[in-house]
Amino acid sequence: MNYDCIIVGGGHNGLVCSAYLARAGWKVLVLERRPMVGGACVTEELWPGYRISTAAYVVSLLLPEIEQDLELKRHGYEVLRRVPSSFTPFEDGTYLMLGPDAAENHREVSKFSQRDADALPRYEQLLTQIAEKLEPILSVTPPDLLPLPKQWRKRSFGKKLRDAGKARNLYKAFESLGDQLPEAIELLTGAARPILDRWFESDQLKGTLATDAIIGTFQSVSSAGTAYVLLHHVMGASGGARGVWGYVKGGMGGLSESIAKSAKEAGVEIRTDAAVAEILTESGVTTGVRLETGETFHAGRVASGIDAHQTFRRLISEGQLPETFRAAVDRIDYSSASMKINLALSELPNFTCLPGDGSVGPQHRGTIHINALMQDLEDGWFDAAGGQPSRRPIVEMTIPTSVDDTISPPGQHVASLFVQYAPYKLADGTWDEATKNAFADSCIQQIARYAPNITDTVLHRQILSPLDLERVYGLTGGNIFQGAMPLHQLFSMRPVAGWSDYRTPISGLYLCGAAAHPGGGVMGACGRNAAVEMLRDGKSAT
Ligand SMILES: Cc1cc2nc3c(=O)[nH]c(=O)nc-3n(C[C@H](O)[C@H](O)[C@H](O)COP(=O)(O)OP(=O)(O)OC[C@H]3O[C@@H](n4cnc5c(N)ncnc54)[C@H](O)[C@@H]3O)c2cc1C
Repeated sequence: MNYDCIIVGGGHNGLVCSAYLARAGWKVLVLERRPMVGGACVTEELWPGYRISTAAYVVSLLLPEIEQDLELKRHGYEVLRRVPSSFTPFEDGTYLMLGPDAAENHREVSKFSQRDADALPRYEQLLTQIAEKLEPILSVTPPDLLPLPKQWRKRSFGKKLRDAGKARNLYKAFESLGDQLPEAIELLTGAARPILDRWFESDQLKGTLATDAIIGTFQSVSSAGTAYVLLHHVMGASGGARGVWGYVKGGMGGLSESIAKSAKEAGVEIRTDAAVAEILTESGVTTGVRLETGETFHAGRVASGIDAHQTFRRLISEGQLPETFRAAVDRIDYSSASMKINLALSELPNFTCLPGDGSVGPQHRGTIHINALMQDLEDGWFDAAGGQPSRRPIVEMTIPTSVDDTISPPGQHVASLFVQYAPYKLADGTWDEATKNAFADSCIQQIARYAPNITDTVLHRQILSPLDLERVYGLTGGNIFQGAMPLHQLFSMRPVAGWSDYRTPISGLYLCGAAAHPGGGVMGACGRNAAVEMLRDGKSAT
């Protein structure tokens, strides 16, 4: 069967890419290894009546133009706002609740520091202004800025011109930051901790904000690069307002399903349970793919929505890639220490610092930060750097059933625990069932320090170690972003320097997933940008 393009992997980015290509008149086939589309943005009915966002759990970054172009609302996408957005309980009986109401936030932070309460709006304004100026960079293909030798990659005159234009736009974006430029540079390249230490004095506020800086990273909050993750979190407004993260009705799969429906309406063919074993090439040009079953499909264009390691080291046969490129792919950092634990609960957690009557309260709606003090974050990382799961893990707990009654049996709840740090490589042993269960027990015990009833309310649990994230979702090293996101793996350097325009050394082969710029997160930008570049190149002549 011949197609204009085959997409390897039906993650949300692959689906976005397919929809844009089909809307431009291309005949597109999406091949997904799992029984359902969505990749890490998925809902799975793990236990009867419980529909779980097994990996990603909140949305904000999705580009608004994708939502509009693909008419996602018409196809069922609905965001449920979370007000308040965060709740941090402390063991001394106090808590910090933050949300969209500035006056309320001021009152909350004043409980710990009047100075911090006054500083918070200025800090948020700074991050917002920088994010607003730099955000447009996410939705365009980055220019090649490095003077790499010709044998690395030949650039056509047209590309050089386009790159020069984009470099100028980048310069202008930075110029428009004016006095904020030095702070923006620090946010883009520096460590989160010194920034937070400068702005604030209360550990309760700093710890709560700092959790955003380490999420998905295997770095300490004092490591260079973590400030960018802080900034990344105030980008996007899909949750209802800038930097506000929302739940997707029906779970995160509701978003992927809506993209799939839009794609199908535009003519895309989607096959699940279809694992690609090889991307076929002839004389350095893509010709199609072969499935693990042996079935082959032909297309002059193939876009891979899976990570660079899987694409180039597993699906491309030896000797097809220039040595410099292959070596650069081998250098990509996939380190990870994130784990996901999904729970079915018979009742809501009852927090000692803000007891409830069993019904949903404001403490249940947003992200609940467990062990979010600066020292906990540092100690947690230190354990993991030595190859041990954190003894006092940092848990981001979300309870989507607090606002969505479609995902659990009546009266019952689901809780999602995003946990750090759980290193992919353990100094002693591996992530076998005993290790996973012991760590999950320890996470639940940590929550019980703040909400003692949790221990008796767990009806079911799914534990996804970094190794499981690799096995189930195909994420090398369990890295939730298809490759870590320090500065040297962002923008013009993502996935590797010289190849950030979604093309690859194999003619007709593109990357369209989070492995490419602008990286991880449910954003759709990688898929959309890749489609723009493919449409520029046009269909293959053969
Ligand atoms: C545990 C976890 C929590 C997260 N939390 C959030 C969050 O709350 N909010 C947020 O914005 N982001 C979050 N992220 C990050 C975000 O989910 C990902 O960056 C994003 O979903 C990546 O989408 P993608 O389409 O690029 O790739 P993926 O989602 O990785 O999709 C790739 C697809 O390719 C398929 N595939 C792999 N190999 C093959 C093959 N050989 N043949 C065919 N198909 C194949 C996979 O099964 C998968 O469906 C989280 C990620 C994880 C893992």
